[in-house]
Amino acid sequence: MKYAALQNFINGSFQPAATNRTLQVISPIDGALLTEVPMSTNEDLQKAVEAARTAFHKWSKTPIKERVQVFFRYKTLLERNMKELAELVQEENGKTYGEAIAEIEKSIELTEFATSLPQLITGELLEVSKGVECRTEHVPLGVVASIVPFNFPSMVPNWTIPNALALGNCMIIKPSEKVPLSCGRIAELLKEAGLPDGVFNIVHGDVEIVEAICDHPGIEAVSFVGSTKVAKIVYQRATGNYKRCLALGGAKNHLMVMPDAIPAMTAQNVAASMSGCAGQRCMAASAMVGVGSIDHIITKICEEAKKIVPGENLGAVINQESKDRIEKYITEAEEQSAKILVDGRNAVVEGKEKGTYVGPTVIDYVKPAMSVATEEIFGPVISIMRVNTVDEALAIENANPYGNAASVFTQNGGVARYVIDRASAGMIGVNVGVPVPREPFSFGGWNDSKFGVGDITGKSSIEFWTKLKKSTVKWNAEAGVNWMS
Ligand code: NAD
Repeated sequence: MKYAALQNFINGSFQPAATNRTLQVISPIDGALLTEVPMSTNEDLQKAVEAARTAFHKWSKTPIKERVQVFFRYKTLLERNMKELAELVQEENGKTYGEAIAEIEKSIELTEFATSLPQLITGELLEVSKGVECRTEHVPLGVVASIVPFNFPSMVPNWTIPNALALGNCMIIKPSEKVPLSCGRIAELLKEAGLPDGVFNIVHGDVEIVEAICDHPGIEAVSFVGSTKVAKIVYQRATGNYKRCLALGGAKNHLMVMPDAIPAMTAQNVAASMSGCAGQRCMAASAMVGVGSIDHIITKICEEAKKIVPGENLGAVINQESKDRIEKYITEAEEQSAKILVDGRNAVVEGKEKGTYVGPTVIDYVKPAMSVATEEIFGPVISIMRVNTVDEALAIENANPYGNAASVFTQNGGVARYVIDRASAGMIGVNVGVPVPREPFSFGGWNDSKFGVGDITGKSSIEFWTKLKKSTVKWNAEAGVNWMS
């Protein structure tokens, strides 16, 4: 085992969980055993909530301009430790080193945004009648929870940590049991940055802890990022317990390619979008709808896909179960008479035979009812459907239950606007394969890709992590008496 067995992080220190149940953490790159992660119990969660509630008294009363100083320092620490953090992400998640570096860079950008929060939450003040002022203030909620998935061990935790804490909350995070190491380093860096004990806590675990978080009366809000199936469970359970909840789910993102699209640029974008992070991104292109005559673009997509080599510029998928699932989808499509133009099945990387790799896969002549067209595959696979009109392409996109992202590739501004107006997704790209809005714009999908109001990052997150206090103030007798006295 490369690293010592993991512990929870409660009240500023690592502490053993009150359980003997552990899971092994295996590197997808080569099958090496990295560590063991405890499957904590309610007792562990209770300790974390108590620590967080105690810390909240002082942290919530610390002026925000002071609180964000911690995040200026945290940002510097992320920069200083970027290489080591990226190596850890790569090791536990399986993505390439370049992708892991990009993930740390994104974590830095998210932290940068949090340092600007004092500028954004000044509230409002107005003299509403003579001598009477109304004022609004953003007040932290209390103890909040963040439940995160395996595909971004650093970026997704950093979607929630800097903003929620800078806004005065205390947090309990439940890392993915598949990639629990990066969160531990985040805790160490936050402590080094001067975050007071108890403000940030980690409770490792699986279903039991997620359910306990949703049920705990001391937790005010729950943010969740993961699959739609679990997002629905968490949203129902947390809101059923009268908590605020934002639950981000899975995706099936459609790229609509028009015949006038610039071939080389489109092919590069499609290939990068479907294969980046081995297709394990909620923003990955998973379905492509080609409108009219686009054979020349498909040829180029295949050329680009063939340049993507497992173990070189393509990382591993998270585990054997994922590899089997992805390959099963490809085989099913083949059996249903779709055409496999580039086949990523049975990929093996020399010297890393125990790694779980799937090569880039391009499937053509997919029919809208096939499972590769409707389900989230979460692997480096693109399913191409062919239609004659942009309305047919939009009908396919609109019919899918998800709504994270959609993109159109065209040189025609009118067509681009037409698609922006009609695609049923929260994030739209024009000639952009992965239309992730960068800070200060907020990130979030629609439909079955997100449950709850507002978005998780950017300005929208202020509404999620705070509540408004409205005060009405009168000091002087001359203000008089009226209906609101
Ligand atoms: P997952 O839903 O399996 O797990 C997410 C979290 O929920 C983990 O911490 C896990 O321990 C916990 N969990 C798993 N099963 C549970 C259950 N039955 N009850 C309660 N908790 C449970 O997701 P994953 O496989 O880790 O991540 C991949 C998924 O996340 C994909 O569907 C992807 O699209 C999605 N995702 C979405 C976004 C977004 O912004 N919408 C971002 C990243 C990932």
